[in-house]
Amino acid sequence: MPARALPQFELQPYRLRLAQPLSTARGVIDFRAGYVVLLREDGLIGRGEALGSPDEFPHSPAARYAMELARLDVQAQREGVPLARLIDRRAQLRVPCSALLSAAGMPELAREAKRAAQEGFGTLKLKVGGSDDFARVAVVRDAVGPGVRLRIDANGGWDAVEALRRLRELAPLGIELCEQPTPDLIGLRESPIPVAADEMMAQDPDAALERAQAVVLKPMALGGLLPAFSLAQRAVARGLQVIVTTSLEGAIGRAGAAHLAAAVLALGPQPAAGLATGRLLAADLCPDPLAPRDGVVQIPEKAGLL
Ligand SMILES: [Mg+2]
Repeated sequence: MPARALPQFELQPYRLRLAQPLSTARGVIDFRAGYVVLLREDGLIGRGEALGSPDEFPHSPAARYAMELARLDVQAQREGVPLARLIDRRAQLRVPCSALLSAAGMPELAREAKRAAQEGFGTLKLKVGGSDDFARVAVVRDAVGPGVRLRIDANGGWDAVEALRRLRELAPLGIELCEQPTPDLIGLRESPIPVAADEMMAQDPDAALERAQAVVLKPMALGGLLPAFSLAQRAVARGLQVIVTTSLEGAIGRAGAAHLAAAVLALGPQPAAGLATGRLLAADLCPDPLAPRDGVVQIPEKAGLL
């Protein structure tokens, strides 16, 4: 049998600074480094993107995501459909999304929250796991009133005892859900706030689907749009909600997440997707036609990814 020629991918490393540092339970993020992947086939150019070092190509989940994205981009261009429709023909191209708040100081945080709500975001998200969580969430609730959904994300920074204590404290502020309160989500059945699995989806998806009420799917961490979509189908079949989220990457990777979120909406209504992260970057890879307006990412009826 003749060997099949491997497609030739071209890698272009990048480094993007955040507009302001983002504090998480796992440390402070102030830049993102990765690489764009280009695939040239039959006069078409497919684009993908991975976070991490090109040295990890082609084996890391992010590298697999980038290659798959470039291939699907070419295929969607060839078939003349938005990439989301390759994943599911019934994809809903209008995707409501949440805004991630990153201001450090309280007055800035209140201003950022108010601005996001005025821009039309119906769901705001905050990182938690510090000593002033209650004050930060309360400032945001106060700034935006009761009509906006607040989502929190502990990035696995608590143990079960502390998580239950914190979640009980925060529940009266009206919290939509908490992403990954603990690393394994064991012992949280009595949580007054619904619990979502995020980091755990890449490590132990079976246990995550057992223990969580919602799942956060990051195609960059899960090795591709199609593996992530099959997890979404499993989650929905179990009655779980699905939140598709970027990994704070550039416009190409974010566009892949947006197409996935559109495809997941074909499975039923879902909480706001975490796609509005381009606003956290000081500079981007390319212009972003999928930047949210009025809290919504509208994917154009255009062939391909971007
Ligand atoms: Mg998260």
